[in-house]
Amino acid sequence: MKKSYLATPGPSPVPQEVRLALAQEIIHHRTKEFQNYLAQAAADLKKIFRTEADVFIMAASGTGAMEASVANVIGPGDKAITIEGGKFGERWTELVKAYGGTPIVLKVEWGEGPAADDVAEMLAANPDTKAVYATLCETSTASVQDIQALGKVVAPTAALLVVDGISGVGAVECHTDEWGVDMLVVGSQKALMLPPGLAFISVSKKAWAVIEKTKRTAYYFDLIKARKAAEKNDTPYTSAVSMIRALCAATKMILDEGMDAVMARHKLLARAARAAVEAMGLKLLSKVPSDAVTAIVLPEGIDGKALAKILADKYGVTVAGGQGPLTGKIIRIATMGYMDQFDVITAIAAIEMALSEMGHKVALGSGVAAAQKVLING
Ligand SMILES: *Cc1c(COP(=O)(O)O)cnc(C)c1O
Repeated sequence: MKKSYLATPGPSPVPQEVRLALAQEIIHHRTKEFQNYLAQAAADLKKIFRTEADVFIMAASGTGAMEASVANVIGPGDKAITIEGGKFGERWTELVKAYGGTPIVLKVEWGEGPAADDVAEMLAANPDTKAVYATLCETSTASVQDIQALGKVVAPTAALLVVDGISGVGAVECHTDEWGVDMLVVGSQKALMLPPGLAFISVSKKAWAVIEKTKRTAYYFDLIKARKAAEKNDTPYTSAVSMIRALCAATKMILDEGMDAVMARHKLLARAARAAVEAMGLKLLSKVPSDAVTAIVLPEGIDGKALAKILADKYGVTVAGGQGPLTGKIIRIATMGYMDQFDVITAIAAIEMALSEMGHKVALGSGVAAAQKVLING
């Protein structure tokens, strides 16, 4: 008998309330019953995203909403600043290129955040920039970007601020309207406690003005079509009815707990994870660590892939490895979404056991004890 523990930064564990909602009879998407779910989900997401802007729900993985935010804004020759501090920042650059745009890339050291001043300089040198593409939590390096600071430099310009909040929203603060985020992109399978399959996007008034003037080539991801359908409380194509019903169960759990409490829980769990890493004598990759995921630099001689394999095969704990240049060099454990103190303790305990088994000297219980201290003392 072997139990499974999912500690990856997406997909993340899904609570029973949400799984049971998925098991309900399929209903038709053009019915009053379904429309009530859709309206509820959109209203709840606005609260979670902290926005009054329009929010759309699409059947896609998170990248689908990223694509929508590019396809509706960027046409051939359009300039966009893309912030690259990891795998997902690189995706922004690739998407802008895919739609014929000209990316102006701000390279950031992996594990660090961008300086808003650098973005301000790039905007001043390129006043025809249509959008700045940033990432709330760069999952590949477990690092946050200061979206509030970016908002301050982007808001006074003609450019839109577009933020990939796929793994961040629901785990770290994101004040969409207050910070001047024009389009926020979120996915279902990270901190929102759902299976993979839904993507969300908010669209500000400033963004609509740009979208309306853009020669758009998107079909499925055409946001003007989505807006027309939303006026009738509908989606342009068949809604993912079961997932949207499950979404209502998940947003209810988040809002019942309260956004401030949800943020505080993530802060505490991530602090416990970081304290454990340091107590085990290991290093954190990030200089600006996120509360959604923790990236652990592995000691010399420990291969991340081998470690992840032992964790999964022997202990049933699934963690994420490193991507791109970090392949084999780090492992990442999530504290996003449906997670509590014992999820952290489990992951840390398993890492201590697996490292020890691989011949790395680690005092068994050192990481667990450090995490426990943080969890007890708050
Ligand atoms: C997971 C993730 C994505 C990709 O989402 P998919 O659902 O796999 O398309 C993009 N950006 C960030 C920051 C992520 O964490």
